[in-house]
Amino acid sequence: PTPDDAPYLAGLNPPQREAVLTTDGPVLVLAGAGTGKTAALTARLAHLLWTRKAYPSEILAVTFTNKAAREMKERVGRLVGAAVEGMPWLGTFHAIGAKMLRRHAELVGLQSNFTILDTDDQLRLLKQLIVAANIDEKRFPARSLAGLIDEWKNKGLTPGDVDAGESERYGAGRGGELYQQYQDRLKAVNACDFGDLLLHVLTILKTDREVLAHYQQRFRYIMVDEYQDTNSVQYLWLRLLAQERRNICCVGDDDQSIYSWRGAQVENILRFERDFPGAKVIRLEQNYRSTPHILGAAGGVIAHNSGRLGKTLWTEIDAGEKVRVIGVWDGPEEARRVGDEIESAQRDGTSLDDIAILVRAQHQTREFEDRFIAIGLPYRIVGGFRFYERAEIRDALAYLRIVNQPADDLAFERIVNVPKRGLGDKAIARLHQLARAEGLPLSAAAARILDTDELTPQARRALGTFVGDIVRWREMAVDLAHPDLARQILDESGYTAMWQADKSADAAGRLENLNELVRAMEEYENLGAFLEHVSLVMDNEGAREDAKVTIMTIHAAKGLEFSQVFLAGWEEGIFPSQRALDEGGTRSLEEERRLAYVAITRARRRATILHAANRRIYGQWTSSIPSRFVAELPADHVDQETTMSGGASLWRANWSERADPFADVGRGTGRGPGWQRAAGTLDAAKPGGDWTSRTFTREPTRVVESRSPSVSLGNK
Ligand code: ATP
Ligand code: MG
Repeated sequence: PTPDDAPYLAGLNPPQREAVLTTDGPVLVLAGAGTGKTAALTARLAHLLWTRKAYPSEILAVTFTNKAAREMKERVGRLVGAAVEGMPWLGTFHAIGAKMLRRHAELVGLQSNFTILDTDDQLRLLKQLIVAANIDEKRFPARSLAGLIDEWKNKGLTPGDVDAGESERYGAGRGGELYQQYQDRLKAVNACDFGDLLLHVLTILKTDREVLAHYQQRFRYIMVDEYQDTNSVQYLWLRLLAQERRNICCVGDDDQSIYSWRGAQVENILRFERDFPGAKVIRLEQNYRSTPHILGAAGGVIAHNSGRLGKTLWTEIDAGEKVRVIGVWDGPEEARRVGDEIESAQRDGTSLDDIAILVRAQHQTREFEDRFIAIGLPYRIVGGFRFYERAEIRDALAYLRIVNQPADDLAFERIVNVPKRGLGDKAIARLHQLARAEGLPLSAAAARILDTDELTPQARRALGTFVGDIVRWREMAVDLAHPDLARQILDESGYTAMWQADKSADAAGRLENLNELVRAMEEYENLGAFLEHVSLVMDNEGAREDAKVTIMTIHAAKGLEFSQVFLAGWEEGIFPSQRALDEGGTRSLEEERRLAYVAITRARRRATILHAANRRIYGQWTSSIPSRFVAELPADHVDQETTMSGGASLWRANWSERADPFADVGRGTGRGPGWQRAAGTLDAAKPGGDWTSRTFTREPTRVVESRSPSVSLGNK
């Protein structure tokens, strides 16, 4: 067959065709969101098969997620019919790495049936090593070591490559030594972790000429999507594999590099042209996804970043409506508003599958989940657990359940030794025996076993404290408001402290989730009602095929598109995140801005950005100010709207010029209720709300704490 009548070329524009038809030699497609990069890569794959330039097994094609790999496979199948008898080397770097490693495991001292450890196993192993090395795990948590080892692996560093300076980053200079021990242990138990799937393969390619030559020959063509988010070890892989035939095509967008926190290096785009001299660089400029207003809004925001490679984007799609920016009063109103909008879109014929809510941080999903449960709107959480299913939330709920219901054995079991109380497996087995023998719930058996001499003194002390705590919490529950009770339980049990001591990347997110849990409780009358609600939420799965609204983080939404997108929580301290603000400097802020760009460009027809004037933090209302990214949206492409109770959008105009946004507060500037409330006047009742009874902090704590160099809020 000739390419001219090829089904996969139909409708492609000239530069896309060029990307498809330039099969030989290095090609870099550098283009903005929605310009058909993934579409071109898919057509290119179809082309290689259709013209028989390669067998399916001779093409290495890398996608960012497993889902993207499946979709590409399906689409190619549709384009060229049955020609695709499986594409063994189409998948994520990890999936491809696992496959290669199985074939050559013995070269790194493993057997081909090695197990891949999950994070829990990994931590358990590291803890053993840390204890054996006489390192104080409280000072140097296992999670920090796990994070560090992962970072080294992403950089392509084996234990031998870790120098004294790097080693210094854990356990007073013992990082490198423990890394070595960890790798030895893994080998001894015939296992590897996720990072090894990449690093071991790199080691093999670097050390075994025969294997390298084999793959260099085999992979006639190499293609990579989302190239801007490859890390060093992935890059080194690609460079080795492509060195021989040099038929490598990478597509990416520097403005969408959002994984630097996981070691991704946007510099790989620049390195490409250096490592593959003569590379053809193709730019795609026509966007087929979004309306001009959506592109204009996204472009206006990303223009504030420096050092961009720069791109032009245009679209033939009708202007459509402007990006809406909606200021609401608080989080619950944000969720209500989005729920209402979705229901009305649904009435207008939009499928729920075509609607997404994108959030910056996992904990933001909770408010939407609760609201959607209440109004019966089906939703799915993508790329993460649903809020109440996350490990730390389940732990916290277990504490609450055991206080609410002493006979809840599952809850008891879950937390009896979380955080670690020094109760060994033996002690817990004894407890189970007694409970079974006497027909008692575990918590009652625990009280009973303390009177015997069945436990070691240490276990007895630990269990005694725990049983005593439960009794005390149950007494406290009589008088104390249930959110306060929850906070106290989490503090006194050491559960919060456990995560505070934890230096791993996700610990901060878990603490935020715990705060969010306490916040959620405030909306229910008592502990029983709240727990009832949770069990209903847990049960909401429903039939898989039904249309559902998607709720996910922006990170998880990369490469996807939806007709309507709601972007929630555009407030300083949420987005940009507090961590980015605390770090200061432009690097992390620019990555947040790229996230904003990714977020807006997911929308095909309608984008709605929301920000709330108030958020409840630790049971206190705190006023928030709109994200700086809101102010960066070009006015021409935006419609501002403020709900009756919101008033927050008024910040917008003032954000950049005014040093002290509170300067006018209370001077009767007639700016609307939001301003007066910010001054602490609580007399204007919010319809249906209960905030009047609460303390209102005048200072927007989050912002004041996070004073960034460019914006100073001098009202501390
Ligand atoms: P992102 O940067 O977000 O990953 P992308 O550059 O990979 O975006 P695609 O997802 O490939 O863009 O394409 C965006 C949309 O445009 C898709 O709906 C795709 O089907 C459509 N599209 C791509 N190329 C064309 C074309 N030549 N004609 C019509 N529609 C196209
Ligand atoms: Mg894409």
